Amino acid sequence: MKRDLMQISQEKSKMKEIYKTSRRKRDEENKELVREIKSKNNAVESALLCGICHDKMDRPYTVPCQHTFCAECISKVSINEENYRLCPLCRKPFLLTLPVTQQNTVIEEIKSIFG
Ligand SMILES: [Zn+2]
Ligand SMILES: [Zn+2]
Repeated sequence: MKRDLMQISQEKSKMKEIYKTSRRKRDEENKELVREIKSKNNAVESALLCGICHDKMDRPYTVPCQHTFCAECISKVSINEENYRLCPLCRKPFLLTLPVTQQNTVIEEIKSIFG
């Protein structure tokens, strides 16, 4: 009888140990997940930053090289002799069609989600 009790209590503590370990593991997994989400968030946030003013893009405008800037910022980039502007990030020349109507609605949407 006494032996049984001891066995039960041993079992109990073993179960507790297993439970603790699995909880610790789960906590670690959760932390890992949170870290991952945070770093993805940061990546999205920095993707929303304008390469010219380094602020959140205002009326995002995507140039042919696929870089995106505020409409206002990109319209301030100086024009060369051939009427081209150079992308401030990759130096690819592009023609800016004014008025800036080719707004990047996807980025506007993401912006509204991330505030
Ligand atoms: Zn800008
Ligand atoms: Zn570019």
